[in-house]
Amino acid sequence: MTDDPLLAPLLAGDRRALSRAITLVESTRADHRARAAALLDALRSAGREALRIGLSGTPGVGKSTFIEAFGLKLTGEGKRVAVLAVDPSSTRTGGSILGDKTRMERLSRDPRAFIRPSPSAAHLGGVARRTREAVSLCEASGVDVVLIETVGVGQSETMVAGMCDLFTLLLAPAGGDELQGVKRGIMEIADLILVNKADGELKSAATRTVADYAGALRLLRKRPQDPQGFPKALPVSAVTGEGLDRAWEEMQTLTAWRRESGHWEANRAAQASHWFAEQVREGLLARLERDPQVRARMTELAEAVAAGERAPEAAAAEMLETMKAG
Ligand code: GDP
Repeated sequence: MTDDPLLAPLLAGDRRALSRAITLVESTRADHRARAAALLDALRSAGREALRIGLSGTPGVGKSTFIEAFGLKLTGEGKRVAVLAVDPSSTRTGGSILGDKTRMERLSRDPRAFIRPSPSAAHLGGVARRTREAVSLCEASGVDVVLIETVGVGQSETMVAGMCDLFTLLLAPAGGDELQGVKRGIMEIADLILVNKADGELKSAATRTVADYAGALRLLRKRPQDPQGFPKALPVSAVTGEGLDRAWEEMQTLTAWRRESGHWEANRAAQASHWFAEQVREGLLARLERDPQVRARMTELAEAVAAGERAPEAAAAEMLETMKAG
């Protein structure tokens, strides 16, 4: 058990403590890592769980607007909400475009909400670790719903889906032919497709888009973790608020079903084991890279491979042999 001074205020739901704890888990300094690990371990015993919702969508689709409206709806119901942004592509200094508080101004002023932008210019692995740990911190501090926002680029969606209970894809209304633009892989991990901007002039286009995606989702193989009718496509308007209640109801229906069927727990267990193995793998690599002899041999062999003097397989085998001996 740790006697970390952040432990008690975190458990009491103090937002400043939460903020400081997230800063701690973002650090790569060895003493900070040790402190973070002890803190996260101690917090586990609180046994608190939030609903973790991943939300992805390309820039301009309305993520910030949606999160603000949806977040305010939830806080209005008395829930505590945290928003974490994952934006590994961001090279901006001073925080990322995602999660920028000025874009969720009302929500950021809400005492029941906690918004944390993505740390800038971190590599995907680092962002994954920080986000997973930040999610745990939010849960321990009594947050009911954690929204993890990501842009639809690279592997960030798969990574976010790997730490969520539900994964939502936000889309804009489009012509039928644009359906092709959404990668199949993302369709396969989405539990809900929300077609935003279903208001005003865009409403009928949104209705058509919903029908297109509903059709496409039906063609996908049914997953064991889905009850009848899921995954689903629904229209929403982050601006008028229409469809938000329905979206939340569907999320709750899916959650309740997964909890009852055991898929919820199985998913969390699988995510935790995967994360454990990932951390060990990363730690081993980091340890090796710190060894100057190993590093030097790696460079030599890499050069020999690049020059065509050694086959990659043989060079890798030799490298592994060297490490075993060392
Ligand atoms: P993000 O880049 O995905 O975070 O998108 P934003 O939330 O910044 O929204 C991009 C633009 O779409 C802004 O001009 C919003 O006002 C607009 N927008 C967002 N949601 C809606 C909506 O539900 N209806 C309409 N008509 N416009 C919206």
